[in-house]
Amino acid sequence: MNGQMMQMPLLTSSLLVHAERHHGDQQVVSRRVEGDIHRYTYTDLARRTRQLAKAIVALGLGDGVRIGTLAWNGYRHMELYYAVSGAGRVLNTINPRLHADQVTYIADHAENQVLFFDLTFLPLVESIASRVKTVRHFVAMIDKDQMPASTSIPNLLCYEDLTASQDDQFTWPPLDEQEAATLCYTSGTTGNPKGVLYSHRSTLLHTFAAALPDSLNCSASDAILPVVPMFHVNAWGLPYAACMTGAKLVFPGAGLDGKSLFELFESEGVTMAAGVPTVWQGLLNHVQGLGLKFSTMRRTVIGGSACPPAMLRAFEEDYGVHVIHAWGMTELSPLGTVCAFKAKHQAQTPEQRQAVQAKQGRAVFGVDMKIVNPDGDELPCDGQQAGDLLVRGHWVVSRYFREEGTGHLQDGWFPTGDVAKIDSDGYMQITDRSKDVIKSGGEWIGSIDLENIAMAHPSVMMAACIAAKHSKWDERPLLVVVKKPGAVLSREELLAFYDGKIAKWWTPDDVVFVDTIPLGATGKVLKHRLRDQYENHLLRSA
Ligand code: AMP
Repeated sequence: MNGQMMQMPLLTSSLLVHAERHHGDQQVVSRRVEGDIHRYTYTDLARRTRQLAKAIVALGLGDGVRIGTLAWNGYRHMELYYAVSGAGRVLNTINPRLHADQVTYIADHAENQVLFFDLTFLPLVESIASRVKTVRHFVAMIDKDQMPASTSIPNLLCYEDLTASQDDQFTWPPLDEQEAATLCYTSGTTGNPKGVLYSHRSTLLHTFAAALPDSLNCSASDAILPVVPMFHVNAWGLPYAACMTGAKLVFPGAGLDGKSLFELFESEGVTMAAGVPTVWQGLLNHVQGLGLKFSTMRRTVIGGSACPPAMLRAFEEDYGVHVIHAWGMTELSPLGTVCAFKAKHQAQTPEQRQAVQAKQGRAVFGVDMKIVNPDGDELPCDGQQAGDLLVRGHWVVSRYFREEGTGHLQDGWFPTGDVAKIDSDGYMQITDRSKDVIKSGGEWIGSIDLENIAMAHPSVMMAACIAAKHSKWDERPLLVVVKKPGAVLSREELLAFYDGKIAKWWTPDDVVFVDTIPLGATGKVLKHRLRDQYENHLLRSA
């Protein structure tokens, strides 16, 4: 017997309709590439989004056509999020920090027919315009009076002209919820990026889960600032969760440095933010250097890479900002786990609670996870044994865009490529990427633990630990370190800092001090580059 409830498709456009009807006066604030602060409401957002959707349809593009963006976090990008998917087209947010060849590859692979871009990326778009095969229209996301006077881009359109060309009399089509809404590419460090095609349904279910109290905990009384870019896995779902909950949105545009972010936090009363550890490091350096305090910031989501315990401590103890550590992937829309406390943690000491927070957290409902050994046998959740992390769920990729079959799944589970432990309370802790694990004499050493210890040293700004070849043990840990400006620190002092914190044989064999550590397009350390450079370091110095 079937239930007798209404059947309403789960569509992203319904989030915007909800925000307009129930939170119409809530603000959306953006720092623009034009240099000023733009401010409007969900009512304005919804109206302009309908105009834009109508203009996109008028361009004569078929259903399901892909439309690319190269853009910062801002209100126009937000309008595109809703207009493109809501009108039955697919939004492909491309990471502009990728090499021009990879941007071209993605635009071609996605077969984008329109490419919207912020003016910051004009040189990039000029360099690829003659190469991208399927793009018929280029659209600059800028006010009309700031359109470039001359450019090599053929038939360049102005976003504001395009939007103004239509009125807002547009009804969102009743799409099938299984239809594709957005397309993101993994920032694969080896090989070509792979496309993950999210459906309206998966996006809506992910939004419900993301907004929950033990997830990102979004509400109508929040002012949310997604530092995580809208080109990095849908800004972790915040543009959707904000509409679902009626939160104020604050978009930082291109200003991701500590000073610009802090100013925006304070002037807009930001209560919650989200970003990768490297961004928060910049913010902490800024506030620590000038002795500043946050007046409204209550919590921040940190993910994308492991949150170093030293950063966690600084936010919690020095600034009263609660850290929500989260783990996810492009292939997971991205949320997999979020580190929220259970009742039993409330009475614990700050140190005990921070030890919990340093883990990547518990599975959000909708994602199931397990760890397995190399034979595929499930390992116990004892917090001791580490294994390959597998996931499945409502917003987990089943196959990559334009890839045949589901060959990469293992018995219906997606192998994340991460190595993790899960404790008896269900808290998952990533110990490494499987390709970054250090295999010393047949035993595994997790590089993240070693990095976290180094980053707790007061003279260390950043640390990465890699596997260096070793004549006796095959591989041994080598620490690559950037010191804080002006800090004096010797190899011996840093290695002594490990005493008593880990098993002696885990201690890195050597330290290389460098000026910078290479970061990828989403702020992760490019360990393969460090390995290329330093993997023979221990053999040379033996
Ligand atoms: P991406 O698809 O670019 O978001 O990258 C996903 C990968 O980032 C994961 O498979 C992890 O290796 C890493 N990652 C994401 N969040 C965390 C975290 N909180 N701690 C450690 N690694 C993380």
